[in-house]
Amino acid sequence: MRVVVIGAGAIGLNCAYALERAGAEVNVLDSAGIGAGASRRNAGWIVPTMSGPVPAPGMVSQSLRWMARRDSPLRIRPRLNADFVGFMWQMLRNCNPRQFEAGLSATLALNEGTFAAFDALAADGVQFEHHQRGLYLLFSKEENLHHHAEELRSLTELGWAESTVLDHQALQAAVPQLSDNVVGGIDCPGERYIDPNSFVDGLAAVLTERGVAIHTDAQVTAVERGPDGRANAVIAGQRWPADAFVVAAGVGSGAVSSLFGGRVRVQPGKGYGFDLSTPAEPFGKALYLAEGKVALTPLDDRVRLSGTMEFGTDRSVDAVRANGILATTRQYLSGWPEPSSTAGAAPWSGQRPMTPDGLPIIGPLPDQPNVVIATGHAMLGITLSPVTGQLVSDMVLDGAVPPAAVPFRVDR
Ligand SMILES: Cc1cc2nc3c(=O)[nH]c(=O)nc-3n(C[C@H](O)[C@H](O)[C@H](O)COP(=O)(O)OP(=O)(O)OC[C@H]3O[C@@H](n4cnc5c(N)ncnc54)[C@H](O)[C@@H]3O)c2cc1C
Repeated sequence: MRVVVIGAGAIGLNCAYALERAGAEVNVLDSAGIGAGASRRNAGWIVPTMSGPVPAPGMVSQSLRWMARRDSPLRIRPRLNADFVGFMWQMLRNCNPRQFEAGLSATLALNEGTFAAFDALAADGVQFEHHQRGLYLLFSKEENLHHHAEELRSLTELGWAESTVLDHQALQAAVPQLSDNVVGGIDCPGERYIDPNSFVDGLAAVLTERGVAIHTDAQVTAVERGPDGRANAVIAGQRWPADAFVVAAGVGSGAVSSLFGGRVRVQPGKGYGFDLSTPAEPFGKALYLAEGKVALTPLDDRVRLSGTMEFGTDRSVDAVRANGILATTRQYLSGWPEPSSTAGAAPWSGQRPMTPDGLPIIGPLPDQPNVVIATGHAMLGITLSPVTGQLVSDMVLDGAVPPAAVPFRVDR
């Protein structure tokens, strides 16, 4: 079977990988480059325990408080655009315990195979920087620490990762830079992280070796249909005929799906980050600065700081908001990063594909079984990319929609 995958991010590359392994003849098309969307611009965490959807109980009041602060972790810039207004309205309606719990358990179920799927990629020759050291969650408020510890305890009871609450002193033994603002933290030894650049490059290298062509500078602008009404080719500079199509175009997935006649609601949720070359080995695990919602990822050659969520804006970098990440870091870690270590480090931005209910969209377009959508992975697009690839491959090649995928269908 000939398959065209649209999008060479973590999701598209994993779909192409699983499809090729299952015997399909695959072409990947991307308008900008391998990992040019969000897939190189993220914290690289593989965190099944963070499976809770973004629309959560309490999010509305928290958002209102944050909106008053110019450098806060969340910004919603109101736009008079029907799609945007409808999206935000739906997202607000999903901020209730029932939807949150349902989304959490569906995403946890999807994540059951996540660690094994990353291990299988590595065993199959995909080379990427992969750390299995776990992470520390740091808290500046006792009540937040206890609330989060309680949530993690219920995940442990369900068979998910172990976690241990640490007081300030115990945490400082592991993270000497800890500031006095930190009251304590949680050790999550089972979580992992990767270098996202090495991940997309490693996947692309294996795909190319196995004969999958990845065409960059190939923006899909039109869809052609056969006499039976089914899509049989896309236009991206030239004509790309295929039996089936996978739309994994990140924040561009709404536009691409509409070329196929489908409706997929995705809005960008912009984040920022910095890559700092020093200090060399600042702490043994990744750190999550809980109240400030900043992730610190210690990689082999740099430390990556990332965070913030902006709705309703473009890809440009707002220096005040990006610098809020550095200011937050200094609140949790004394003396680090030093101003000198950040000089010259330009902030980058990445756009997470967000959906109104916070769940990914994985499944065929209604009435078009040969067009499968794989997008909307929000804050978990790296984590969920290998299991999504496997699901999509099964859907494309066998027409199967397994029960675990039902909560993620397009017309939910
Ligand atoms: C600051 C930040 C931190 C994050 N941290 C984490 C984390 O720690 N763990 C985690 O799991 N996730 C994290 N994420 C989320 C993760 O990065 C995304 O969910 C994931 O990268 C989405 O992958 P994707 O392949 O769907 O989209 P993308 O990587 O955006 O790829 C989509 C591709 O489609 C292409 N495209 C678009 N339109 C067209 C078209 N018409 N024709 C052809 N090609 C097209 C684009 O050029 C792009 O390359 C983070 C995101 C951000 C911004």
